[in-house]
Amino acid sequence: MTTAAIIVAAGRGTRAGGDQPKQWQALLGRRVIDWTLEAFLAVTEIDRIVVVLHPDDLNRLAPHPRITVTVGGATRAQSVRNGLEILQADPPTHVLIHDVARCCTQTAYIASILYTIQSTGSPAIAPALAVTDALWTGVDGRVTGTRDRAGLYRAQTPQAFEYTSILAAHRAYQGDAADDVEVARAAGIDVTIIDGHEDNIKITHPHDFTRAEKILGNQMDIRVGLGFDVHRFGPGDHCMLCGVAVPHDRGLQGHSDADVGLHALTDAIYGGLAQGDIGRHFPPSDPQWKGAESHIFLRHAVALAREFGFKINNIDVTLVCERPKITPHATAMQAALSEITGLSLDRISVKATTSERLGFTGREEGIAAQAAVTLVKPCA
Ligand code: MG
Repeated sequence: MTTAAIIVAAGRGTRAGGDQPKQWQALLGRRVIDWTLEAFLAVTEIDRIVVVLHPDDLNRLAPHPRITVTVGGATRAQSVRNGLEILQADPPTHVLIHDVARCCTQTAYIASILYTIQSTGSPAIAPALAVTDALWTGVDGRVTGTRDRAGLYRAQTPQAFEYTSILAAHRAYQGDAADDVEVARAAGIDVTIIDGHEDNIKITHPHDFTRAEKILGNQMDIRVGLGFDVHRFGPGDHCMLCGVAVPHDRGLQGHSDADVGLHALTDAIYGGLAQGDIGRHFPPSDPQWKGAESHIFLRHAVALAREFGFKINNIDVTLVCERPKITPHATAMQAALSEITGLSLDRISVKATTSERLGFTGREEGIAAQAAVTLVKPCA
């Protein structure tokens, strides 16, 4: 099975206010359309995404290997049809059709709609919420009547269809339609309702931007970073390990003070930030770092995390060696890491293991260290 998505983004909607169409307006520092596309791009089962744009907007999206841009028509229905026709050259089995202004739609939700249509064999699946508020009619700010809400739903997108069925339905359809369920039903296609989501709002009015900011702002960006380092033994009377001078009959060799634990941890933070490694920020070719105390590197990584808006949530360092024994110094190491990173002790783990006398650590040729960190920030 192959799947495509069509994002309908050709509208000029003026109800949302602002100096440009809502899909191009900023929301938590990004454009509305970018939030929507990110959610769909993260569904790896979607092979292609067709974005239907207004002719004036064709150059406003950065090229992406999974995104095709096409021009919209005079109506929403015509825009969707244009998107469907583009896919005809290499037809998918299923297509998701989505309004760009529903920018709070979650990746897991999109994936679940896709899974439902593929696993049930339904020709069409559409999310909706049963109406729970009382319904009135009104004229000029006065209630003129009430309506029975039983059996009424508020429709959402993405709506999922068998590709060939919805293409044929659109080709046969005349005029505009509120959504693709209307087009599908006109062609006699059976549409199954699945539960929509209250957070899957559509930006329509100016205050919807504030609602969307609240929904998107509640999400967390959670990163895991891993670091690994090795230093060999050489002459000396102590090893710097996680910021603590541990007495030993040898020392660790390296360009800096060779604190293998701090190096692994520093690289874990850089890794979580996708910002390279120590060598990139402190090139060994630069003489100013010769013999440097490694807390300098760690402090830099911690500051960089803060600069990117991340909070370091926890740290876990494992030292691998036969000797020196680490456990007697583990509490001092935790305290040193706490001082450098600002984390409380209950978020810092320092532990050690031997390698059962196997390999270079077993032969006491050097010490290895592994570190893991989690970094968190609101998804803004
Ligand atoms: Mg190193």
